[in-house]
Amino acid sequence: MAQISIIVVTFPAQGCINPALQFAKRLISVGVEVNFFTTHSTHRRMINTGASTPAGLSFIPFSDGYNDGFKPGDDINHFVSELSLHGSQTLSNLIISNENQGRPFSCIVYTLLLPWVAEVAHELHLPSALLWVEPATVFNIYYNYFHGYEDLIRDNMGKNDDHSSWIRLPGLPLELRSRDVPSILDAENANNFTAPLFKRLFELLDKENKPKVLVNTFESLEPEALRSISKFDMIGIGPLIPSAFLDYGKEKDPSDTSFGGDLFQSSKDYKQWLNLKPKRSVIYVSFGSISVLSKQQTEEIGRALLDYGRPFLWVITEKQRNAEEKGKEDHELREELEKLGKIVPWCSQMEVLSNPSMGCFMTHCGWNSTLESLVCGVPMVAFPQWIDQRTNAKLVEDVWKTGLRVKANKEGIVERDEIKRCLDLVMEDGEIGEEIRRNAEKWKDLGREAAMEGGSSYKNFKAFVSEL
Ligand code: UDP
Repeated sequence: MAQISIIVVTFPAQGCINPALQFAKRLISVGVEVNFFTTHSTHRRMINTGASTPAGLSFIPFSDGYNDGFKPGDDINHFVSELSLHGSQTLSNLIISNENQGRPFSCIVYTLLLPWVAEVAHELHLPSALLWVEPATVFNIYYNYFHGYEDLIRDNMGKNDDHSSWIRLPGLPLELRSRDVPSILDAENANNFTAPLFKRLFELLDKENKPKVLVNTFESLEPEALRSISKFDMIGIGPLIPSAFLDYGKEKDPSDTSFGGDLFQSSKDYKQWLNLKPKRSVIYVSFGSISVLSKQQTEEIGRALLDYGRPFLWVITEKQRNAEEKGKEDHELREELEKLGKIVPWCSQMEVLSNPSMGCFMTHCGWNSTLESLVCGVPMVAFPQWIDQRTNAKLVEDVWKTGLRVKANKEGIVERDEIKRCLDLVMEDGEIGEEIRRNAEKWKDLGREAAMEGGSSYKNFKAFVSEL
């Protein structure tokens, strides 16, 4: 029998690349040939980190007109439209040429923000599946927004948090305050370039019969949300993280962890530092690959960490440092911070989170970070910035109860005392901290169970592959 060959297309952002790559690795492990279709600049950056490509994975890089990558100051709308234009032409040619050579693809899997992939798949009658790299709950919110609930959601935006303005959506067992709803659905939000992409995606999915949505979540984590839209075949196949971190007590397979698809070079000098720290003593701080905090906010975090006095590992990305203008940064503060903790531009986050020294993760609640923290059993101080992070923080605090969410002041700044309050409650031995740690352990076990042989995500993945 000919080998099954599929295409995986990812949006060129770290939060999409990581789960797409883990999904690709799983497909390879069961004998499926994977063609990873992404932009030249993304491919180059992944290779430049020195990692070797996993056996069985073929990259198909294409030019999107931004061969040096998207830079601060570039027009995001232009970038997205060029990506769509060049991506769909190259993708169509690839599918047709393989078909003509008698080597047709069986399926195409694509992450969010790429409605043009669904369009190409429809035109060429190639089966497709959406790889949803946010929670099923967020999929439900977007779906409802584009199917009759736009006014309700918009009316709730920016309202105070009094109970009368909380909303309920069909199929979701929770009430949403204004601050829990993804920010792109807010008309006032300047960053809502993604809203038309989601709108187009749902228009396309609406034309399909029971479209497949592979969700980076697991059944026990979001049972209702996964079943909330009967028109879709929503399948939990997560957590999509390197399997070496999921298997209890097993030796890590270096080939599994070495190529995580990082776009940034990881520092090395923090590992030994972490290994020497006592159990549950370190605060890990990261705001992911995209968010850039204001100078005032970074200072409040720095002061809070200093006042609190526990060791910390803080990822301050190159992008964040550039935004703060290196020359103008507060050297005195930085020196004081570096006496107590470590500041790195990038790290291997899964290695960090699985280190026994982890006490808590102060996170922006990007979906990968949230899921990684859950699977490593690390309590969270949820510090969401925008898009789905706001809903993810709500789930962490109110549904899974594995962390606390910080409260911002009227200017949108989270002050040092508030940060310290949350760190203290999560890290120390009081009732709240203990409950959070118990829940964190519970979700760690449930997440691993789902992914391991016989678990719900494992079975769902196998069923997907058997249908290819
Ligand atoms: N990450 C990492 N090292 C870092 C910071 C982040 O490896 O220093 C990884 C992290 O493990 C996660 C991804 O980058 O898989 C970030 O994705 P997420 O959805 O959390 O946030 P985004 O970057 O999309 O805002």
